[in-house]
Amino acid sequence: MTVRGWCPSLAEPMRSGDGWIVRIKPRRHGLSAAQARRLAAEARRWGAGWIGLTNRANLQVRGLDDGAIGPFAAAMLRAGLAEADPAVERQRNLLPPVLLGSDPALGQRLEALLDGLEAVLGDRSAGALPGKFGLTVEGGGVLPLGEVAGDLHLRAVGDAVWLRPDGARLALRCRWDEAAEAASRLIRLFLDRRGEARRLRGLVSALGEDGFWAAAGLVAEQPPTPFASAPAAGFRGYAGTARGFAAAGLPLGRLDPEALDGMATLAERFGDGTLRVTPWRLLLLPGVARADAAEVLQRLRRVGGITEAADPRLRLLACPGAPHCASGTVDTAAAAARLLALGAVPARGLLHLSGCGKGCAHPGTAGAVLVGGADGRYGLVRGGTARDLPAAVGLTIEEAASLLRATGDAEGQETA
Ligand code: SF4
Repeated sequence: MTVRGWCPSLAEPMRSGDGWIVRIKPRRHGLSAAQARRLAAEARRWGAGWIGLTNRANLQVRGLDDGAIGPFAAAMLRAGLAEADPAVERQRNLLPPVLLGSDPALGQRLEALLDGLEAVLGDRSAGALPGKFGLTVEGGGVLPLGEVAGDLHLRAVGDAVWLRPDGARLALRCRWDEAAEAASRLIRLFLDRRGEARRLRGLVSALGEDGFWAAAGLVAEQPPTPFASAPAAGFRGYAGTARGFAAAGLPLGRLDPEALDGMATLAERFGDGTLRVTPWRLLLLPGVARADAAEVLQRLRRVGGITEAADPRLRLLACPGAPHCASGTVDTAAAAARLLALGAVPARGLLHLSGCGKGCAHPGTAGAVLVGGADGRYGLVRGGTARDLPAAVGLTIEEAASLLRATGDAEGQETA
């Protein structure tokens, strides 16, 4: 990838080593089965053969050639998977509670809140937001977003909505009907002072927390403790009902179009007819009866989903790497297959395979990170990110596997 700090959207694809990349942003209730089938068909027809799940709960189709972008985008628009106005589509970065509309613990008030926030993001009267600028809305339930980051994080707790800018310790407490206007006010502050920082976190840092809230003319408070989140593959029931959701991971977060087709069929037959993309690279089938859970999980495995929480493939993260990404020096998919075959994925903790030092697949820390170097070999970072100084360099994948096996579990703190 050649442009830092920029995200591809449907109308603004990004050039990479294997062609153009476009990003599909599912709506707040996920993909309908029909949308999933349409996306699978068009990705199969025009793309590189797989669809990537991103840590912003988007879907990324890559490998489109010059002649494919127009027809692919037209098909996505017809399917209702994008806004016709490219500027609105670019800013439509709103991560809702992943089970909205299915988990009964997520109340109707969240829908009205999201209506208001969508209007705020669609309003460009104050200027254009950076393509990566996004909002996260947290409403509790059986699978909260927890610590998933956004430039502005909104958390609904009881009668209040708390707005916390990324990087801030304090948050603004609002009534539900005030929250969208408060979000608009904070976004306008960012846009008014956009020369000082590229993201909201940078502005909080530049002004200092007290200075930020003073500049906004708002008084912030200590927010309540975040909802704890424990995303995992498998089935989990909603509180007080006979239904729940089934969650499946995909090897390296890559979704085969046939697998997407198969999951769409399962969603119609056993669930509420939708699929949810999550920031944890798990696909969810909401609305599954507890009585059908075992059968659904078995059928998910048949179409390529990973449903056992202990499966080592779920602890292995990899970016597209070479040859898909022009910046990649190593074939991350081949390396991942080799590490699995050699039994080198640690029994605990994340192993992050990065095609270069940018670390796109996982900006946070992992127990161990293998980073492709200019020589086509690997550097090993323990308990850090792809940008950190490696403890060992110039490793073949077999040498890296030996080091990983020798120490057993991946070590160190991990962050999202
Ligand atoms: S981390 Fe991977 S996807 Fe990101 S620029 Fe490097 S090789 Fe490309």
